[in-house]
Amino acid sequence: DTAYLNGRFLPLQEAQVPVLDRGFLFGDAVYEVIPVYDGRAYALADHIQRLGSSLRGIGLTDPLGPDGWTALVTDLIARNGNGDMAVYLQITRGAPPRRDHRPASATGPATVVGFCQTRPPVAASLLEQGVAAVVRDDTRWAHCDIKSTALLANVLLAGDAQANDANEAILVRDGRVTEGASSNVFAVSGSTLITPPLEAAILPGITRARVLALARRAAVTVAERPIPVAELHAADEIWLTSSTREIFPVTRLDGTPVGPGRPGPLWTRMRALLQADTHD
Ligand code: PMP
Repeated sequence: DTAYLNGRFLPLQEAQVPVLDRGFLFGDAVYEVIPVYDGRAYALADHIQRLGSSLRGIGLTDPLGPDGWTALVTDLIARNGNGDMAVYLQITRGAPPRRDHRPASATGPATVVGFCQTRPPVAASLLEQGVAAVVRDDTRWAHCDIKSTALLANVLLAGDAQANDANEAILVRDGRVTEGASSNVFAVSGSTLITPPLEAAILPGITRARVLALARRAAVTVAERPIPVAELHAADEIWLTSSTREIFPVTRLDGTPVGPGRPGPLWTRMRALLQADTHD
């Protein structure tokens, strides 16, 4: 496993950052996860653009720029065997000599990290039976549109879901669905596909955008509008999307079957379209 750290490539196990790094101390950092299919990064330009937005969102100068990120991702994929994987990128505000909350105290270079992880194939059982999800209060901060590594609420929510034999926590703020703890949420009501509109409480998921585009191209009726939690409980289908888990069906919500309790027909169709898109 070859990683990248501040301008050089080295074995992942040897890649270390100082204790004073602000990513470690404060979660003062942003990240990206880019899925790779047979050596090809999927929607790379979209991921790099979102990384730029996240950097601007925390007031950090982009240390590499779009061309630099593209070259780095391509290099990492090649050095890690050009197969199926996910590239992880993280940029922190660096490691100044003192712990100090104020971002201006970090005058040195940012810390830039990249590495690859295997992307395990989505389990057949998950696709045949779907997964369970639980509904939880969205306890995260106000800027979930920034892809920050400060993920403590997401981590605790993932643990809560797991402790309740669920695969994901679907989050609700002011009575409306925002997103999953590490995914975006879609609901199907009749023949309409619904997902909450982008706002500060939602990460603009790359998979979300691709699924919306593919659905519109296939003439599926799409509504980007708020989903009251009662509507989620009454949905015919619920799906979650993310770069690593693609598009997967939720068939139990808070212990109750979603629709007939099996992955639905629109999910089957959209999964096929997304599979074709990632592999073309
Ligand atoms: N929302 C959150 C909170 C996430 O962590 C993720 C995945 N990292 C997503 C949505 C899905 O985004 P994407 O499709 O870009 O992976």
